[in-house]
Amino acid sequence: MAKTALITGSTSGIGLATAKAFAAKGYNIVFNGLEENGAEIAAGVAQEFGIGYLFSPANMMQPEAIRALAKEALDKFGSVEVLINNAGIQFVAPIEDFPEDKWDAIIAINLTAAFHLTKAILPSMKANKFGRVINISSAHGLIASPFKSAYVAAKHGIIGFTKVLALEGGEHGITANAICPGYVHTPIVDKQIPDQMKAHNMTREEVIEKVFLAEHAIKDFISLDTIAQTILYLADSEAAATITGIAMPLDAGWTAH
Ligand code: NAD
Repeated sequence: MAKTALITGSTSGIGLATAKAFAAKGYNIVFNGLEENGAEIAAGVAQEFGIGYLFSPANMMQPEAIRALAKEALDKFGSVEVLINNAGIQFVAPIEDFPEDKWDAIIAINLTAAFHLTKAILPSMKANKFGRVINISSAHGLIASPFKSAYVAAKHGIIGFTKVLALEGGEHGITANAICPGYVHTPIVDKQIPDQMKAHNMTREEVIEKVFLAEHAIKDFISLDTIAQTILYLADSEAAATITGIAMPLDAGWTAH
């Protein structure tokens, strides 16, 4: 029987690329995201790969909606083998100007949502004695940059959560790992460009070269394929069965500094 992967924020960027990689392996996919055409995106991937699927626009800021998403997934597919907590947003401002509602939203979506969803799926993973949880942290889960207080706090926090889950899940056949990408060219990065241009008084090209890629030892964006194939390795390969509790940098050498 096909396994099921639930991926939050999977109608764009990293989540969508990962959904396609799992669909290519025959997984059922539970899609989620706030893109207006999310339902069509999900249906398109399902049709391309001939897989079972579900799409939910559950808002990761709302615990009730998160619990409903978990229930819908379990009711439809019976189990969720792979949970990828990926949905995320960003906001860039100095601490003294950082809007409180942006802080709350970033912590809710990038950190607290992973707690609520994992809590809701965990009993089923324990009953099945199998689970693979991948949390999408960031190089900003390992180091900081100015003006990203909420994001850096959330991404550090989710690594702590991952470690606790690894310890609690070990005896139940459940692994939990975080991945820590450097810059990947997706909408979340594109949306930062205007603010960074203003903050640094730079052109678009200068922001890419001198802000985003400045710390990458390899002067390139991390490819979506690198991210998706690494998640597949951690969640779908027998070779990774005892890899748990790690925060793996995929950052072109950024955190080697
Ligand atoms: P993206 O903007 O393309 O995708 C984000 C997804 O999250 C979208 O589908 C969006 O609808 C969804 N989302 C946002 N708020 C939501 C909410 N309240 N409820 C439900 N869904 C919501 O960005 P991406 O680059 O693919 O980001 C995916 C993850 O990767 C994020 O957690 C991000 O922090 C992390 N990340 C990205 C980079 C990068 O350079 N792009 C680097 C490191 C980590």
